[in-house]
Amino acid sequence: KQVIFSGIQPTGVPHLGNYLGALQQWVRLQNSAGPSTKLLYSVVDLHAITVQQDPKQLRQWRREVLATLIAIGLNPDRSILFYQSSVQAHAELMWILSCTASMGYLSRMTQWKSKLSLKDDASPLDTGSKAKLKLGLFSYPVLQAADIMVHRATHVPVGEDQSQHLEFARECVTNFNHAYGPHLVEPTTITSPAKRVMSLQDARQKMSKSHPDPRSRIVLTDTPNEIKRKVMSALTDSTNAVSYDPENRPGVSNLLELLSHLDESGRTPSELGSVYSNLNLKEFKTILSDALSESLSTFRDQYHKIMAEDEGRYLDHVAIKGAKKARESAEETMVLVREAIGF
Ligand code: ATP
Ligand code: MG
Repeated sequence: KQVIFSGIQPTGVPHLGNYLGALQQWVRLQNSAGPSTKLLYSVVDLHAITVQQDPKQLRQWRREVLATLIAIGLNPDRSILFYQSSVQAHAELMWILSCTASMGYLSRMTQWKSKLSLKDDASPLDTGSKAKLKLGLFSYPVLQAADIMVHRATHVPVGEDQSQHLEFARECVTNFNHAYGPHLVEPTTITSPAKRVMSLQDARQKMSKSHPDPRSRIVLTDTPNEIKRKVMSALTDSTNAVSYDPENRPGVSNLLELLSHLDESGRTPSELGSVYSNLNLKEFKTILSDALSESLSTFRDQYHKIMAEDEGRYLDHVAIKGAKKARESAEETMVLVREAIGF
C-alpha cells in the first residue's frame, strides 16, 4: 500500500523554494493518487522549536502554514493535514528510534551545523558547538525518521536539502528492524525538478524561511510590488546581460532557473538564457517578476479568502479532523512497535 508523508515547519510563510521544491509535488501526488493511497502532510511544529521560537509568533505561523497548504490545493477531505504536536506517537516513536540510532551518523549531518553557522567538519563535542548545540536540534533527524515511519510512509516528497535526512531515516529502519524484527518500512525519497531554489541575495545558499534577510526569499503571500522589489534587488553580477552559466554567474542563473520552473512550455534555463540574451538585467528581471506575480495570484486570493472567512474556526476544524485521522494512522504502527519491543 502506498503511503505518502511529508512535513513543513511553521517557521514562517512558505516561499518559492518550499513551493517548487516540495509543496507543488504534494499537490500533484494528491491529485494523481489512486483511492488506496494514503496521504499525510504535517505542519511540523515539534521540529520548529529546535530553534527557539516566540510562542505567539509560532501559533500564528502554524495557522498560516496550514492555510497555505489548503490554498495551494491540498484538500483536507483527501489528504490528512495535521499539526505534528497533536499526534503524540511521533515523539514516542522518536524516543524508541533514539535507542537504536547512531550518534556518529548524526554528528555527520550538515543541518545542525548550518543552523548554527558552524563549519562542515564541526563535531558536537567541539567547544564552539557544545555551548550552542541543543540536544533537540542534534537529534532532529531522529524525529523526522519517526514522522515518516509512524505512518509507514513509502514515499516522502522533499527538497534536496532533506535527502541526507532521508538517508538517515532508512538507516533508522535498518537498525530498528535488525533489533526487533521487520516492522518498519523503508521510505523512498521523491524530489521535484526544482530540487534546490537558491537565495535571491546569495546564490550559494538555499532559499530559507528562517534566513534573517526577507529579501532573500519570495514568500507565497508577497504582493506584486513586493515581488518586484525583491526580484529587482536580487544579487547578480557586474555583467549587465542575460546568460545561463551556473558556475560563473550563479545569481542570474538562479533567476533563469526560477523562470524555467514557471514556464508553461517547459523551456530549460539555458534555452531561456538564449531567448532573453538580447535583454539587460533590468528588463529580464521585470519579465521574471511579472511571471512570478502572475503565477502566485491565484494562490494569494485563495489564501486571503481562507484567512479572512476563518477567524480560527475553519482551520481549527481541519486541524482537529486531521489530528484524529493521523492518530489512528500512527496507532496502527505503534501497536506493532510496542509489542515487538516487549512493552
Ligand atoms: P527553515 O529555514 O526554518 O528550515 P525551510 O525554508 O528550510 O525553513 P522547511 O520547513 O525546513 O523550510 O522545509 C519544508 C520543505 O521545503 C522541505 O521538503 C524542504 O526540503 C523544502 N525546501 C526548503 N527550502 C527549499 C529550497 N530552497 N529549494 C527547494 N526545496 C526547499
Ligand atoms: Mg529547512
